[in-house]
Amino acid sequence: MAAMKEVIVGIDIGGTNTVIGVFDEQLKAIGQDRFPTLSEFPNRTDNPVSYLDELAKQVRKLLAAYAPESRLAAAGMGVPGQVDGGKGMVYDATNLGWDHVPLARLVQHRLNCPVFIEHDVRTITLGEALAGAAKGRKDVICVTLGTGVAAGIMVNGALVAGSDFCAGEIGHDDVQGLEYVCNCGKVGCLETIASAPGVVRLAREAVGSNSGETLLSDSPEGITAHSVYLAAIHGDEVAAGIFRKIAEALGQKLSTAVALLNPEIIIVGGGLANAGSVLLTPLSDYLFSKFPAYRGKLEIVRSELGDAAGLIGAAHHAAKRIGRI
Ligand SMILES: [Zn+2]
Repeated sequence: MAAMKEVIVGIDIGGTNTVIGVFDEQLKAIGQDRFPTLSEFPNRTDNPVSYLDELAKQVRKLLAAYAPESRLAAAGMGVPGQVDGGKGMVYDATNLGWDHVPLARLVQHRLNCPVFIEHDVRTITLGEALAGAAKGRKDVICVTLGTGVAAGIMVNGALVAGSDFCAGEIGHDDVQGLEYVCNCGKVGCLETIASAPGVVRLAREAVGSNSGETLLSDSPEGITAHSVYLAAIHGDEVAAGIFRKIAEALGQKLSTAVALLNPEIIIVGGGLANAGSVLLTPLSDYLFSKFPAYRGKLEIVRSELGDAAGLIGAAHHAAKRIGRI
């Protein structure tokens, strides 16, 4: 009798949706689905029972549909929060209302397989390093620009979590000259501009201050990060200037990271990465103006896996932890 096939489940928990995927022995995706993340917020909890029951139900449904004859070898999860992957603990996930949740153990009970968790920006980084833009690379920085900003750091093939599991929280490092109040309560954090809401904020401000003729003044209320991008690629100087300002603020932070870590590649992901060269060209220009010797050595690229990076990374994280890769 042939040995039973094994599958791995990847789980990417987002503030809005949770995406789950089944992966075969070669870590190829064979099926995926999503369901709304039931936030416990504003009541903080250390045991989000209704969410975890729903998660287990959805995983079982997915396995029955795509891998009915297979054995579940492990599950990997990416979580937006302060995560101790070694202990399987989520100390804090503000947007989910989670506080000291022993997540790996709680999910393990429900799925009857080993469960490994990690901060989502780190699973994204692992996904890009093992199956995406940084395939085969060992020294990687992956920065995600979405509603917030965070960076995943890989040094010599190992993800860096930091002493308090907060490594890479670059979004809350302040930028000189910025005075916007951040959601975290501090003033001038990078993510007050280098994020989708940040683009809108800068665009509205540019329109209000009459910084020059711009397509954006046609409908100031309807401005989105995407409309600013569209204006920029149509030659709108004010819109392009917004992306240059963001690229420079991000570049300042990343240049320190480059000096400290000497990465081979910097990957830019998250929704704002869709701006492509509008953002990446001024970012590269800035970094190579600071480090001319790295031109031709350090690569600065857009995420290859896009929205799927977290899911693919979560599955690879589990596969790595059980020694399959
Ligand atoms: Zn902040």
